[in-house]
Amino acid sequence: MNYLANHERYQTMIYRRCGKSGVKLPALSLGMWHNFGDEAVLANSREMILGAFDLGITHFDLANNYGPSAGSAEETFGRVLARDLKPYRDELFISTKAGYYMWEGPYGEWGSKKQLISSLDQSLKRMGLDYVDVFYHHRPDPDTPLEETAEALEQILRSGKALYVGISNYSPEQTEQMLKVLGNKGIHCLIHQMNYSMLERQNEQVLDVLDREDVGSIAYCPLAQGLLTDKYLNGIPENSRAAGKSIFLNRENITEEKIAKVAKLNELAAKRGQSLAQMALVWALQRTTSVIIGASRLAQIKENVKALDNMEFTPEEIHEIETILKG
Ligand code: NDP
Repeated sequence: MNYLANHERYQTMIYRRCGKSGVKLPALSLGMWHNFGDEAVLANSREMILGAFDLGITHFDLANNYGPSAGSAEETFGRVLARDLKPYRDELFISTKAGYYMWEGPYGEWGSKKQLISSLDQSLKRMGLDYVDVFYHHRPDPDTPLEETAEALEQILRSGKALYVGISNYSPEQTEQMLKVLGNKGIHCLIHQMNYSMLERQNEQVLDVLDREDVGSIAYCPLAQGLLTDKYLNGIPENSRAAGKSIFLNRENITEEKIAKVAKLNELAAKRGQSLAQMALVWALQRTTSVIIGASRLAQIKENVKALDNMEFTPEEIHEIETILKG
C-alpha cells in the first residue's frame, strides 16, 4: 500500500533551534545504529521509520557503519525513502557520519580527507540521495591534522553533498579547536553529537563549550541503550538488546548497583506520571537540543514521544535525581 503521511504529524512534536542556525530539530530524533540493518526484519524497520515520521520525527540519524552489517542501515533507509518517503524528502533532516572502521586498508576509517569524502560518496549511493542534511566527523583522529579533517568538511559543504557539518565524540578541547579551525574558514559547525544520559555524564563540559559557542547539541544513547527504562528491573528479557548479540550492552553491564538506582528513578518517574524512559529523555533535553532515541519496535517510539507531555522538573525532583545518581 502507498504510504500517506499522517496529516497531523506536526501538531504535537516540539522543534528546537539548533544553536546559532536556521535549523530546527525535533526534540526526539530517531537513530538507526541497531535494528535497521540487513539482520533486522525490514517490515519492522519500515514501520518504525514511517511511524516516527507520522509522529513528527523529521530527523533520522545514520552513519556509514550502522547495521549490522555495516552499511545496511543506510540501505534500509534508502529503500524506505524510495518506496515511501521520496515525496517528503524536503521535510526530512538526514544525517550520516564517517570515521569509525568501515573498510579495509589505510583509508577505511579515522579523519583523512580520503576517508571522509569517499565514505560520504558511498553513503549517498546506499541511501539514494544527492545530499545529506548534516555530515559528521564521527570521532576525533589522533593522527590526521585537524586542518585536514576541517578541509574535508569544507569540501563536502562546498560540493553540496551536505548542507551542514557536525562533529561527534570530540573532547571539550578538541571541540574548541575544531570550531575555531572551521570558523576561520567561515564555516559554522551546526552540531555536536555526544553520549549523554542520566547514567553517562562525562560530556557535560562539552555541553558547556557548545552553549558558550552557540552550537547545537544532540544526545546519543539517552536511555543508556535501554537501561534507563523499566525493562531490566526484573532480569534481562529475551527480546532486549542486552540479551542479544550487542557488544555494546551485555548481561555484565546490567549490574545490581545500576539496577538499584534505576528502580529508584523508576519510582520518581511514576510520581511524575511518566515512564522512566520518558523521564530520562526529558532530563537529557534539559541540556541538549535533541535526543536521538533508538528503538526495536514502534510502540517504544510512541511511548517515548509522549515524554513531551511533561517537560518540566521541579528543583526538588532535580535534587532527588542527583541524590539517586550519586547513591
Ligand atoms: P537509546 O539509549 O535510546 O536506547 C535505545 C534502546 O532502548 C532501544 O533499542 C530499545 O532496546 C530500548 N528502548 C527504547 N525505548 C524504550 C522504551 N520506551 N521502553 C523500553 N525499552 C526501550 O539509544 P541507542 O543506544 O539506540 O542510540 C541511539 C542512537 O544514537 C543510535 O541509533 C545512533 O543514531 C546514535 N549513536 C551515535 C553514536 C556516536 O558515536 N555518534 C554512538 C551510539 C549511538 P531493546 O532492543 O532492548 O528493545
